[in-house]
Amino acid sequence: MELNSASTVANLGIPLSGARLLNKFYVQNVPLKDITVFDLNDLFKNLHGGKAPGLDRLDYKAYADDLALILCASSRKNLELSVNSALDLLCEKLSRLNLRVASEKTLAVVFRGTQNKNKQKRGLATLKRPPIFKINNETIRTVDSLKYLGVIIDNRFSWTDHIDFLRSKMLNLIKNFISVSGPNWGVGASLLKHWYLSVIQPSILYGSAVWGGSFTVKNINSLFSIQRLALLKISKSYRTCPTNALNVFLGIPPLHVVAKGLYIKFQIWKLRRNGFDFIDINNLDKFIEINNIELKYRVLDFSSTVVNSDFEVYTDGSGIDGNIGASVCIFNNNNCINVFKFKLSNFNSVFQAELAAINFAAGWALDNNVRINIFTDSLSSIEALKKSNSKSKYLNDIKNNMFGAIGSVGLSWVKAHAGIPGNELADQYAKDAAVNGNFLSMPAPYSYLKKFIKKFILDNWQQHWEDSKSGSRVREFVPHVDYDLLTHNRYFLFFISGHGPFPAYLHRFNILESPNCVCGGLGDPDHFAFECPLTSSFHFVKPTSLNKPLWFSNILKNKNSLVRFEQICRVTRKICDDFVV
Ligand SMILES: [Zn+2]
Repeated sequence: MELNSASTVANLGIPLSGARLLNKFYVQNVPLKDITVFDLNDLFKNLHGGKAPGLDRLDYKAYADDLALILCASSRKNLELSVNSALDLLCEKLSRLNLRVASEKTLAVVFRGTQNKNKQKRGLATLKRPPIFKINNETIRTVDSLKYLGVIIDNRFSWTDHIDFLRSKMLNLIKNFISVSGPNWGVGASLLKHWYLSVIQPSILYGSAVWGGSFTVKNINSLFSIQRLALLKISKSYRTCPTNALNVFLGIPPLHVVAKGLYIKFQIWKLRRNGFDFIDINNLDKFIEINNIELKYRVLDFSSTVVNSDFEVYTDGSGIDGNIGASVCIFNNNNCINVFKFKLSNFNSVFQAELAAINFAAGWALDNNVRINIFTDSLSSIEALKKSNSKSKYLNDIKNNMFGAIGSVGLSWVKAHAGIPGNELADQYAKDAAVNGNFLSMPAPYSYLKKFIKKFILDNWQQHWEDSKSGSRVREFVPHVDYDLLTHNRYFLFFISGHGPFPAYLHRFNILESPNCVCGGLGDPDHFAFECPLTSSFHFVKPTSLNKPLWFSNILKNKNSLVRFEQICRVTRKICDDFVV
């Protein structure tokens, strides 16, 4: 449902001339899905059949007892005319089914076309007088924004209302953290990070395929402060630690960057849009509706061997330095009599190469009207042919091709690198094929798009990190953002961020009068880790600027070093506490 709803609202975002309307209906006690199928299609025809003058476009989305009607017209007058006639028609049809639209719960939002950019800038994106829409002579309320399928759509597509709403959503989501984790106890950062990435982030970014396209600086700052609520809980750091530093410490990208990534993924995969520095959309696999495909074409159950085979065929796929190759070696009485080598595009996967080789072998058997046994070391390929729920068009095309080979082709798994001569030979030829094979065109898999989006998010996150003014101390130690980084020790985090129990920090935030240590030196983190006589038994050798990143990652991996940081912090906390008294 998520994707469907996103596509509808995305359609709203297409600039159209004239005014547009999103009408949200409540129909009482009705599962609307059942009636929409025939009745609303009818509505379409009637309105386009000349009964609604000035109507440019009509679209609708129904979910449970919620119906959204989207109409587009070139002027307010036309919009009123066409909306009201659509409403009349709808009510008439519903009343025949003994159903009634709850006009008091129905809302309308009016969007003005984007043809006048100046007016938009001056905040005049809405009409001077809102149009009036009626259901059974009762005027329905026109509002600035409404929530549909979990996304708040506002009449300027600014998404400000939606992002505001995310704050309360986040507060709700992290409530559970409090019961399992506190500053000095509870589950570790690693589990909390996993929790964030698998539950909280998807929930917050729900529908971002629609609203994640472009953000104002204000939007971005709002998203940061929303994400911060969770990051503070996961890291157990001081409340003053900058958000972008927390992002880096925890290996969790900023929300606005992830939202943009998901938006682009939706544009490419669902809406099939070119651009975004991605490969030509025609070279990308797609998902197909598989419910209509007969099960026998979806689940190919090859027997492992066929009797009286004419040939044994070894297939293999290989990837070297981003080049992908596939090979098919035909054996007769233990002699290799023919080899086929294919070079695939760099965007193809080794898995695809394995499948392509098997597919070719089956096709070769059919073409030559022979019986063969295929041996592959790719268990995942064999499993993919048996799996019924793959939506990949590419994979289903292969299944279609191979269906005819059932009965005359056997397919079995052999262990790779186990000294089986046929498999070793196929492996060698596949490596050679990655460079020298005949080109075989195949669409890029969905996983390629996912990798592309992951890199897009990483690159943009890195750029944001380099451009940001805060977190400069952290940047010396962690110049490169990384999904896998997790600073799981809060004392080490105190040291790197500088936000911890240090006189210099507490002075900066007006808690202590002096920034100095009792020994007389400046009481900053470096002082205690490298210089102060009071912490001398836990000291580290001070890294050079160039060495800081390596020093950071080594310490993070070393349990003893982390314990020393905890001990240093215990001393500094005591020093600070004494000062306060
Ligand atoms: Zn000192």
